Amino acid sequence: MTEFINKLEIKKIHSIVQKIQQVTQRIDIFFSALLFQAWRRTSYVFNKREIYTSIKRRKGDCLRCGRCCHASLKCQHLGYDENGLSLCNVYDQKPLMCSLYPYNESDYFYHLKPTCGYKYDDE
Ligand code: SF4
Ligand code: SF4
Repeated sequence: MTEFINKLEIKKIHSIVQKIQQVTQRIDIFFSALLFQAWRRTSYVFNKREIYTSIKRRKGDCLRCGRCCHASLKCQHLGYDENGLSLCNVYDQKPLMCSLYPYNESDYFYHLKPTCGYKYDDE
């Protein structure tokens, strides 16, 4: 009986630890994405020429997963069509930095890089 109770306790502790890990991971993703967004906007101010040169090497297509539009906070203009594909409700006037994502092999939200449809030559 004591052994059974101990096993239950271990399971409970294990599940609490798992939840803490998940929450920590989400917080980590949220803040790193927020910082990254600030960084890439600043970067555009100082590195326009480099950005427009490097983006020419971009291959592939946007898969319209929409994940980059809510990497940290969900963009208010993000919508989805009946097939679950993302739609930008201000597509024609969307910010330049949206069109320029990702402008080189480093310009990815780190947790989205493996699933993004855009790739660079050396990957
Ligand atoms: S993460 Fe990549 S594939 Fe998905 S919407 Fe953004 S640019 Fe497109
Ligand atoms: S403006 Fe459009 S493309 Fe840019 S983050 Fe919002 S939904 Fe995405």
